[in-house]
Amino acid sequence: MDLNLLRSTLEELGQPKFRFEQIWKWTAGGAAGYHEMSNLPAALRDELTERVPFSTLTEDRRATASDGTVKLLLHTHDGRPIETVLMRYKDGRRSICVSSQSGCPLTCTFCATGAMKFGRNLTAWEILDQALHLRRIDELNHCVFMGMGEPMMNLPNVLEVCRRLPDLGITNRRTGISTVGWVPGIDQLTESDVPVRLAWSLHSADPQLRTDIMPVNERYSLADVKAACDRFYEKRRKMIFVEYIMLGGVNDSVEQAQLLADLLEPWKYKINLIPYNPTDSVYDGSEREQIERFRQKLEDNGFNATTRLIRGRDIDAACGQLAAKAAA
Ligand code: SAH
Repeated sequence: MDLNLLRSTLEELGQPKFRFEQIWKWTAGGAAGYHEMSNLPAALRDELTERVPFSTLTEDRRATASDGTVKLLLHTHDGRPIETVLMRYKDGRRSICVSSQSGCPLTCTFCATGAMKFGRNLTAWEILDQALHLRRIDELNHCVFMGMGEPMMNLPNVLEVCRRLPDLGITNRRTGISTVGWVPGIDQLTESDVPVRLAWSLHSADPQLRTDIMPVNERYSLADVKAACDRFYEKRRKMIFVEYIMLGGVNDSVEQAQLLADLLEPWKYKINLIPYNPTDSVYDGSEREQIERFRQKLEDNGFNATTRLIRGRDIDAACGQLAAKAAA
């Protein structure tokens, strides 16, 4: 829902000020449409249905995995594909993964989105609507900006969304922005007033290898990104999550684990090893035993390192997979 359009439309219709909050409260609470908003005059509900689309997005496909993961393929008014995912865990965690761009201008070699043509930055309302579509399916309590795109390249819109997410049940403490290491965005986040978590997709502490798998490493070196993350830590005193995708025979040796341990401090960085979700790329995921050896090496160096649970494997839940298939 375009909340600017809602606000100006209510003004034009001469509605009292409290209407905006009334409508937002219903929407953030998971209402399916204006027709459910029983404390609005019927004529106003009809008028809004005509003039302010309930969502800026249209749902094309919904896939539900055997583990309860739901993935939506949506498109914008100008036909740009977007994916968004809801992950449900036994302990009650309801975590959403939202997209900040349609496609992505960075070309990480393992990522399905990176292989798509870049579309554009999503508006704040297009990002918020992904969360609202999922809010209509279930209650929510966690959010990560780990869908399509680089959120730090669209940070003002991402932060605008973060300011609204608590109304959907997702506090800033339970919200994470994930980045390849886009330094100006990390610095903007550090200077902002939004207390969300920071995640760095690091993937290799060896500069040459990192450049090979993530060309953006040429633009912002490991040292530059590390310095920006350290500034974030100095200001916020919140641990930074490091994402490390495990590519078989590429970045998963114990030597690579040691390089990673040498780069980071265990009290500032928490490492999350990500089993690779195979796409059409040249990579295979690491063997389970190798992931464990890598993790053990990090623990030996004093790090808190976890391996991410695999979710939604049966529904193409890896970043960009559904949209790439829909475009093919
Ligand atoms: N551009 C941001 C956010 C989007 S990607 C970033 O890079 O952090 C979110 C995470 O998903 C990143 O850590 C990325 O490396 C990871 N990812 C991408 N493709 C994947 C795949 N096929 N399997 C597992 N993780 C993947």
